[in-house]
Amino acid sequence: MTATGRPDVAIIGGGVMGCALAYYLARTGESVTLLEQGRVGSVPSASGASAAIVNVPVTAPEALMQQSLLTHKLLPELAAELPQQTGIDIGFTRPGSVRPAFGDHEHPGLQSLVERYAALGHEAEWLDAKGIRTIEPGISRLISGGVYAPGTSSLYAPHYVRALAAGAAAHGAVIREGMPVTGLQRSGDRVEAITTVDGQIEAGQVVLATGAWTGMVSAWLGVGVPIGPQRGQIMAVQTRPPMPHVHHILSHDDGYVVPKPNGTAVVGATREFVGWDGRLTPGGLGFLVDLAHHLVPTLTEGTVKHVWYGFRPMRLDDGPPLVGQLPGLRNVSVVAGHGPTGIALSAAVGYLLAQSLRGEDPQLSLAPFDPARSGISAA
Ligand SMILES: Cc1cc2nc3c(=O)[nH]c(=O)nc-3n(C[C@H](O)[C@H](O)[C@H](O)COP(=O)(O)OP(=O)(O)OC[C@H]3O[C@@H](n4cnc5c(N)ncnc54)[C@H](O)[C@@H]3O)c2cc1C
Repeated sequence: MTATGRPDVAIIGGGVMGCALAYYLARTGESVTLLEQGRVGSVPSASGASAAIVNVPVTAPEALMQQSLLTHKLLPELAAELPQQTGIDIGFTRPGSVRPAFGDHEHPGLQSLVERYAALGHEAEWLDAKGIRTIEPGISRLISGGVYAPGTSSLYAPHYVRALAAGAAAHGAVIREGMPVTGLQRSGDRVEAITTVDGQIEAGQVVLATGAWTGMVSAWLGVGVPIGPQRGQIMAVQTRPPMPHVHHILSHDDGYVVPKPNGTAVVGATREFVGWDGRLTPGGLGFLVDLAHHLVPTLTEGTVKHVWYGFRPMRLDDGPPLVGQLPGLRNVSVVAGHGPTGIALSAAVGYLLAQSLRGEDPQLSLAPFDPARSGISAA
């Protein structure tokens, strides 16, 4: 921070992307101010709502895969250092995952994933139905086998995001919650000031880490960024004896069940393009109940502990996430559009963008996520 209180970097948005970036910048001595309209890591931000599966997305494009592998290296470090710095346990566990097959027709495709895991240096094996039921007794009797990947991990997302913010603050960052940004003052190819409900802030660099809200915020600059909300409804179910406990992350095309350290199983999630409709609906809850029944039938006898929703930041034109400078604006970057996998990529994305903003070559190229490559341009 300069003597005038002008930070090197102002980050708008206190979801996982903004907080991971704040952490990695502050850790190397950059002065950072983060502005969050609500509470860091709370709903309806995607990060506050997330099931927080940290998987290896074996079918993802190469650049995303590399970021995922980097996150797998960084997360255990964060899980060790953040609680020490902040006293917040981020709930990092490695229960492993099972991707069950429902019928022989699914076997060839799933078995090929085992080789893909191996090529990426991650353990995975194909188990027959008996093998899957041995490690996951409550799973549907209809399964015919499945891929077991012991390295898949999970977090408690709200704590992870708050720990990143608190860790950034421990390194000198200023975290301002309840601080909506209401405008950006542009002069030529620069943003001169950020307007908040509490006055104006100037900064060397401005980063839009505004998740599903990025389309609205970038419009203040005359830049069309095709990112908007996808509602995800999700629920936590408490199992109780004699119901079998869920031991692994169970995933299928339509969703997943994630065991959490507090003994609940999180069942998620809907994928609905309904604008900013912030409601829990009977249709959404019905979907979650059907999904739970499909994967672990006895879950439908458990106790519903909590149902919530969040808005995933989706590229509305199916493009890749955006990470980098907005064309035509020398001091404005964006980090948004990570859709359903932002938690699993967050550590790497924050780490790499921090390197880039410090003027270093990022350890992995961010070129595939350059907004200019997506045809985004300033008016
Ligand atoms: C139900 C659900 C389940 C999910 N499960 C997984 C999963 O298992 N694994 C995984 O990897 N990912 C998962 N995701 C996706 C993941 O949560 C997101 O990709 C990620 O959290 C996006 O982070 P973000 O920081 O870009 O956006 P957000 O978390 O939405 O953060 C953006 C922040 O910007 C703030 N903001 C916006 N406008 C302003 C403004 N004008 N002024 C100040 N602040 C502003 C918002 O309040 C918000 O806090 C899930 C998402 C949902 C909804």
